[in-house]
Amino acid sequence: MVTRWLGCVRGQTTALPCGAPRSRYQVTIAYNSGMATYVMDDAICLRVVDFSETSQIVGMFTRRHGMVPMIAKGAKRESKRTSSSGPLDLLTSGEVVFVPAKSGGELSLLSKWELVNHRTMLRKDLAALNGAMMGAEVTAMLMVPQDPHEALYEELEAMLELVGRGRQERMRGVVAYVKAGLVEAGYGPVLEACVMCGRGTGDEEVRFVPVAGGIVCPRCGGSEGVAVSGRIAVALERLPRPRVMAVTPPAREAEGGALAKAMEILLTQVEVITDKRVKTRSLMGNVFGVG
Ligand SMILES: [Zn+2]
Repeated sequence: MVTRWLGCVRGQTTALPCGAPRSRYQVTIAYNSGMATYVMDDAICLRVVDFSETSQIVGMFTRRHGMVPMIAKGAKRESKRTSSSGPLDLLTSGEVVFVPAKSGGELSLLSKWELVNHRTMLRKDLAALNGAMMGAEVTAMLMVPQDPHEALYEELEAMLELVGRGRQERMRGVVAYVKAGLVEAGYGPVLEACVMCGRGTGDEEVRFVPVAGGIVCPRCGGSEGVAVSGRIAVALERLPRPRVMAVTPPAREAEGGALAKAMEILLTQVEVITDKRVKTRSLMGNVFGVG
């Protein structure tokens, strides 16, 4: 375990709640001549942007406070106090202490980052790293700042472990995670029956229509959305969540092509909901081993 001190609070580093018990998450101490609330939480680093020569802006997905954009002042500065001080890395997990922003448009102030998991295994495998990057981007797109989703936080931790375990775990883990993200954000797709008429689809070719929130059978459908076999839609519906898969892997192997199709459906829905393009779509070929 490595402690990274970010000496960003004016003269306050020694007063930070570093020795506070884990059950205490809020500590109020003097900050900038007023009273500031320091919040402690578990976090996964999902976005990192260099802000200046010494600072970074980071997107932290926290267990109890949801997505929290923060500024980490001095994060890139070499500290004389500790050789372990340095920039924050994507996809790492740790314990963060921060001063929450006063209003929605502002950044919270990161004051301490205690690294718990650097995910070394993930960094040795490009396809695993790319899969994890897709999950990270989708999380940041779907989660509204400061809206807690503890269940999804735990699914993300599970997915980040799964993707490093091998090809099947990587492909299934990422697809299962993005589906969980949509469900947690309130946009879980309807996949086992037509959203228009309610009929089960079987093996027939159907269309996934994001604005309808699910699949549309050939009798009801036009040409909107993404063509997909009913068999893949049903398999996606039944795919367990990452936390379940981490303990009980599905008995049958899944085809890379089918999982890639399932991922395409889910990413299309993420894009329609957020009105943004998923940039990591370009990593699909590498993650799923398809052209
Ligand atoms: Zn129908």
